[in-house]
Amino acid sequence: MVSATPDQPVSGRSVRFSSLSKTYGPVTAVKPMDLTVQPGEFLSFLGPSGSGKTTTLMMLAGFESPSTGRILVGDTDITAMPPARRNIGMVFQNYALFPHMTVRQNVAFPLRMRGIAASEQARMVDEMLDTVGLGELAERFPTQLSGGQQQRVALARAIVFRPPVLLMDEPLSALDKYLRSRLQIEIKRIQRELGITVVYVTHDQDEAMTMSDRICVMRDGGIAQIGAPETLYQAPADEFVAGFLGESNMFTRPVKGYADGRLTIDMASEDLVLPASRAPAAASVKLAVRPEHLSFHADAAGIATVRDVTYVGDHRRYDIALDDGTMLVAKKQETDGLTPLAPGARVALDWPAGRIRAFSDGVALQ
Ligand code: ADP
Ligand code: MG
Repeated sequence: MVSATPDQPVSGRSVRFSSLSKTYGPVTAVKPMDLTVQPGEFLSFLGPSGSGKTTTLMMLAGFESPSTGRILVGDTDITAMPPARRNIGMVFQNYALFPHMTVRQNVAFPLRMRGIAASEQARMVDEMLDTVGLGELAERFPTQLSGGQQQRVALARAIVFRPPVLLMDEPLSALDKYLRSRLQIEIKRIQRELGITVVYVTHDQDEAMTMSDRICVMRDGGIAQIGAPETLYQAPADEFVAGFLGESNMFTRPVKGYADGRLTIDMASEDLVLPASRAPAAASVKLAVRPEHLSFHADAAGIATVRDVTYVGDHRRYDIALDDGTMLVAKKQETDGLTPLAPGARVALDWPAGRIRAFSDGVALQ
């Protein structure tokens, strides 16, 4: 556990955007955005390429100036402050280590820039190399390190001066899957130990789900939805978020009626009743249901057929065709002693009313 020393506060500060936006000529990279990141919070911007994630982070870092709005870190307005004075740590995808410096010299660099005494520098660097598990490699040069090790050095260099806020833009996307998941866990651990506020950018939804206290889903330069991973997964506000986070079966069904906050949907073999806060705008709605929430059973009178079964270790994946041509995916946990259904089997679906989201004009009705 890294402990705070009186002159080196380690607690995170809040970050606040008010009406923050960025345009490049005719291109709106970030629409006016209001957002508060809590002290010590891990917040991720998640979205497809071009949705404005990096631009947002660059404004916070000070490398892009906002077209409108303000940025506060704690109580300090940093909107017009040069990057070096913001005291924010940064890690990017390309490690950008100084190639002619050893690991130790790289990590010491921000301390040297801040005029910290040599003996204190050595102590802080040692402590940080320990934290990121690089104690043994202090005298190596970047070219003598693996990608994962280089990224640990970049992380150590970004936090050695104990910034209250750390920015990371796709820091793990150049690493293989195994290393990525190990570093995800380690970055979380270090973040918790230091109490630092992290603003993280990724296009990888698993990474965002694993690491974040809250995820801010971006689309076309705006916030599509912001919330805890569970909230976004279980209650996506619109079709875009439902489709972007995790796997969803999305299909259209006719509406039979809406009354008293209840929506009745025609599922061919039966009616499905869902709670809804308003009437749908059209005669049909889009439904979304996660593959792990969709269950079915063998039934000769069912309205669907198993097309394909794939063994995936801890579950089997079933591709199921409804008689109207709709294709659905269901994931079933392996259960001892039960023979899995084979392609061609007729099945009935058990619609999980509590797990189905309905959308009208792309927006959730619940
Ligand atoms: P992301 O990081 O989510 O992939 P960016 O923030 O890099 O997205 O880009 C958002 C939008 O702004 C994109 O349409 C991109 O083309 C545009 N953009 C980014 N930087 C510039 C720039 N310097 N000049 C013009 N357009 C830019
Ligand atoms: Mg980017």
